[in-house]
Amino acid sequence: MTVTHIIGGGLAGLACAVSLVEAGERVALYEAGPALGGRCRSYDDRALGCRLDNGNHLILSGNRAVFDWLDRFGMRHSLSGPGRAMFPFADLRDGTRWTLDLGRGRVPWWVLDRRRRVPGMRLGELASLGRLLRAGEATSVAACLALGALAERLLVPLAVSALNTPVETGSAALLAAVMRESLALGGAACVPATPAEGLSESLIDPARDWLLARGAVIRTGWRAAGLVAAGDVVSRIEGPEGGVTLDAGDRVVLAANAPVTAALASAVLPGLVVPDAFEAIVNLHYRHEDRLTPGLARAAGDVGRAGFVGVIGGLAEWIFLKPGVVSVTISAANHLADREAEGLAAQVWGEIRAALPPAAGALLPEGVPAYRLVREKRATFAATPEQARRRPGTRTARNNLFLAGDWTATGLPATIEGALRSGHSAAKACLAG
Ligand SMILES: Cc1cc2nc3c(=O)[nH]c(=O)nc-3n(C[C@H](O)[C@H](O)[C@H](O)COP(=O)(O)OP(=O)(O)OC[C@H]3O[C@@H](n4cnc5c(N)ncnc54)[C@H](O)[C@@H]3O)c2cc1C
Repeated sequence: MTVTHIIGGGLAGLACAVSLVEAGERVALYEAGPALGGRCRSYDDRALGCRLDNGNHLILSGNRAVFDWLDRFGMRHSLSGPGRAMFPFADLRDGTRWTLDLGRGRVPWWVLDRRRRVPGMRLGELASLGRLLRAGEATSVAACLALGALAERLLVPLAVSALNTPVETGSAALLAAVMRESLALGGAACVPATPAEGLSESLIDPARDWLLARGAVIRTGWRAAGLVAAGDVVSRIEGPEGGVTLDAGDRVVLAANAPVTAALASAVLPGLVVPDAFEAIVNLHYRHEDRLTPGLARAAGDVGRAGFVGVIGGLAEWIFLKPGVVSVTISAANHLADREAEGLAAQVWGEIRAALPPAAGALLPEGVPAYRLVREKRATFAATPEQARRRPGTRTARNNLFLAGDWTATGLPATIEGALRSGHSAAKACLAG
């Protein structure tokens, strides 16, 4: 029986493996790191004495592939969130706090209700949404936005976090793809959620256990070093313990990130074009006493109910309240590459205390508590029109070689949703022969 060898144990590689095993195929998955999950993983932080996610990941109810994934392993219950499309915000510039409430239906009644919409927005600004949805492949997000509160307090933060790219260079078409599957479908597709315990517990470990129970081979700590071709097929994977020699009919799926894939495939797909510009994401995790968690959530009102708050006018973009930890995400963070940790942590801690409702902020100490700074330098490819054109499809010039990953041509920015879909597409292409 043929074997599909999958290189890379992030969500794309796992999704490909699960789809193939479901179709009755044999798979072997090789992951360079000590554990599966790639950019979507949890780990034990000894210094802070708690479990952390490498970065906060927000999921929306419109992420069909993510919810199919959770349902396949019976893990939908492992998410937490407000259960409705509510997004608390705080503007640090003038202290305004509000909760955007998109309701449940498809008709966007929220735009007519001052208590549910963005404070200070004019209805005329909604034309920005139409321009984004109609934008061509070469258009930037900024070119579609009308200046005003809707852009400043909703569309820019939405774009920066969805694309992980500044709006001046971010692709309007990629943002529109996200909007078509969320905002344009109404509140029911915009309910936010995060893994209650951790990314690995919700999204990675259940898939690993499912695969192992069905006979899949999973090798961690196994770093592929290159591919060798014979005729028009890949015949060998160079790697630890003498590598892997393929039998006739075997396939290879490269599901590592873009630069690694290009390097691994250099001998068998010379000239493969992949995204080559990236954006960082910075996460700061601040530890607080576990016993503070329930009181903090109660005092935070809507922020406690949602589990997060969006921040305007600061370095911090999203603040997440988690058990024993307050976590901050800063997207499109290349500009922070050289920023020294202590000053950054102090500035962001001050923003957290200011952004939370006063009763919750007062529960947190004035001094910066123990923290962990995680800089993911190549968190995602830069979602610009130029980089979008460099995304390859799943199939390659080699009959038995396929590509997967959030950076392949999924039509979406680099997200969990895109990574899962890319893995399923690679599996489909493998099966189609
Ligand atoms: C900080 C951060 C925050 C994010 N927030 C969100 C969010 O809120 N919502 C959202 O939807 N998405 C978010 N994302 C994006 C999401 O995490 C990614 O799109 C997704 O995890 C990518 O999965 P992947 O399988 O394509 O790639 P990866 O996760 O990068 O997987 C590739 C795997 O290949 C392995 N590998 C590399 N080289 C080799 C080799 N030579 N041999 C074997 N294995 C190899 C790597 O170790 C890795 O495990 C975030 C990402 C980051 C970094």
